[in-house]
Amino acid sequence: ASLLSKRIQNEMVVTTLTKEDHSPVTVADFAVQAFLGYSLSKAFPEDPMVAEENSNFLSDKEGKSILKLVTQSLGPIVPGVTGDDVCNWIDHGGQSPSERFWTLDPIDGTKGFLRGGQYAIALALLVNGKVQIGILGCPNLDGGILVVAARKQGCWKATLSDPQTFHQLQVSECSDPHQAQIACSFESSHTNVTQLDGLTATLGVKTEPVKMDSQAKYVLLAEGNGDLLFRLVSPQTPEYTENIWDHAAGVAVIEAAGGTVTDVDGKPLDFTCGHLLKNNRGVVATGGTIHARVLEAVQKVI
Ligand code: AMP
Ligand code: MG
Repeated sequence: ASLLSKRIQNEMVVTTLTKEDHSPVTVADFAVQAFLGYSLSKAFPEDPMVAEENSNFLSDKEGKSILKLVTQSLGPIVPGVTGDDVCNWIDHGGQSPSERFWTLDPIDGTKGFLRGGQYAIALALLVNGKVQIGILGCPNLDGGILVVAARKQGCWKATLSDPQTFHQLQVSECSDPHQAQIACSFESSHTNVTQLDGLTATLGVKTEPVKMDSQAKYVLLAEGNGDLLFRLVSPQTPEYTENIWDHAAGVAVIEAAGGTVTDVDGKPLDFTCGHLLKNNRGVVATGGTIHARVLEAVQKVI
């Protein structure tokens, strides 16, 4: 799926459709969701998939031209694929969360994808509200990487050019906020910039935050290249509730690399309320040692 998205980014003039929530969606979002819908339905036919996109957009005139490109992009990996197959595989992601299910953001950070910046293919397995497996494909990070995490077992990274050789990842042991590196959204409208500045000052963080799209930021933390990750509620969208596919894989990756993830109130992310994180506000992730101290600062600032 990562290689497919990269091929689309390199070879196709990427047309963008705009969804009802005004966010963009591209050939790559649909192609990756179709491919993983197809793959999961073959590998785990019993498991539901809950994913970001659906095929409704692909039925009008503009949509049909996108569907043609999506079908074309899948041809080399699924010979004989038709437009109907593509729609069915995409809609394999429209199922309801149950005791055990997969959640997918086919292109997390579509805005980053369009800018040629960071994006991630984010897939996670949830069992009884716990993220058991998290997989992040980050085609534009470190030349293209794949990160796989299994709960209480570990978190490993491979390059997309050699996806058989894995190295284990470990979060940083940073306990001094002065030395900490913050990671946050590239899109300022996805966070609260004033509160981020407040946190930087309160904690005495010295370096500028790394601004990065998508769950690629969670990988930075998991490999010890960042220490604090904040997702604060944007003042422009105070009612915004996070989707599970925007965090599930990232949570698995950080926890399995030894780190801690909570919301801004210190509560664990609650993956038992359907496709939304209804019981949480924002996200705070750290290597663990520094977490309590960081939450204290967050409460002070927000
Ligand atoms: P990031 O690149 O970390 O900012 O995350 C990208 C994700 O943010 C997208 O998948 C969107 O679903 C999600 N998003 C869209 N609008 C908002 C918002 N107002 N606040 C927080 N996240 C948002
Ligand atoms: Mg997303």
